[in-house]
Amino acid sequence: MTQVKCDKCPAGFIVQDNMFTRPVEYDVEEVGFRCPECGDETIAYKLDDEIKTLQAKVARERTRAERRIRAGVEVRKAERQLRKAQSMLKDSMDKLNDRVALG
Ligand SMILES: [Zn+2]
Repeated sequence: MTQVKCDKCPAGFIVQDNMFTRPVEYDVEEVGFRCPECGDETIAYKLDDEIKTLQAKVARERTRAERRIRAGVEVRKAERQLRKAQSMLKDSMDKLNDRVALG
């Protein structure tokens, strides 16, 4: 949970409780959060289908890596595919978002 203070009014709120996702153009959605008091919106990042596919892949590889580690595989080796998927995800996010939003 991340508590933030609104830029536009004195309210403080939990980001996760005030998230929204909305389509901006074909295949692209923006994800942000909205102040529950004044309605001020902050866009956190944008997503497209490629990013959603990669997010699912990262989640899958994370489960797989955890299973391997529990089975006694060396962490570095168990997480190789996970790190590869995370780095592809980061590249796609950077490309779509130009790294201006929340770092
Ligand atoms: Zn506010």
